[in-house]
Amino acid sequence: MEKREQLYEGKAKKVFATDDPGLLIVSYKDDATAFNGQKRGTIEGKGIINNRMSNRLMRLLEKQGVPTHFVEELSERDTLVKKVGIIPLEVIVRNIAAGSFSRNYGVVEGTPLLSPTLEFSYKNDSLGDPLINGSHVLGLGLATREELVTIRNLALRIDEILKHFWASCGVTLVDFKLEFGRLPDGTVILADEISPDTCRLWDSATGQKLDKDRFRRDLGGVEEAYREIMERLEKSMEAMK
Ligand code: ADP
Ligand code: UDP
Repeated sequence: MEKREQLYEGKAKKVFATDDPGLLIVSYKDDATAFNGQKRGTIEGKGIINNRMSNRLMRLLEKQGVPTHFVEELSERDTLVKKVGIIPLEVIVRNIAAGSFSRNYGVVEGTPLLSPTLEFSYKNDSLGDPLINGSHVLGLGLATREELVTIRNLALRIDEILKHFWASCGVTLVDFKLEFGRLPDGTVILADEISPDTCRLWDSATGQKLDKDRFRRDLGGVEEAYREIMERLEKSMEAMK
């Protein structure tokens, strides 16, 4: 399958049409942004790692019954995916308080949450991705009641699967962001990516951050952290075979 016209260039990926109207090619870049695009930079090799990692994790989820957009890895940076109508929500699942949750609710970063916490942001860059709740989602017509139930169930199921997998890598899954979309027949599936750009991943023993917070917070060792987390994933997946 080959790339046709570029349909979109986002902050981290480019999206291309293919000869099949139901399929797209996403191409992962090394560009990194934070704070709604105010901080910009490059993380050498990030696109290669995020492409590989997202595909491995989506395959793992598929095996456990979670429908995803993943079709085929075409090259280091390019992946064939099912085209969906993106539901404009950032679905965030948290196991441990960090980032905006800690700021908004006054909880020290690193505090385990008593139960996984689900939140939605309205995916809209010009509004700064504001936090919204389920009734906002229905009121704004972003998703139906049935779709919301599906999204909530899938998000929590994904959390269970990924928490367990990352634990086998000696990594704590602190929180992560998901995007869902609709196939032409209305089925809701997981889309976009799962990577160190979209997850907080902490070394279980030392608490060391192995994700994009190293870039956001100028902690240094950004490329090394991406390489380290990818190696951990590869080793664990190798052992699972
Ligand atoms: P952003 O748009 O936030 O800058 P990216 O650089 O990651 O993000 O761009 C990728 C875009 O492709 C996002 O807008 C995302 O919602 C969209 N997308 C991801 N997966 C699919 C898919 N399977 N079908 C259609 N669009 C998708
Ligand atoms: N996240 C993301 N994209 C966004 C916002 C958040 O992938 O536009 C992820 C982020 O990597 C983290 C989780 O969602 O794993 C929760 O992020 P939080 O709301 O704490 O973001 P912060 O305000 O700290 O950037």
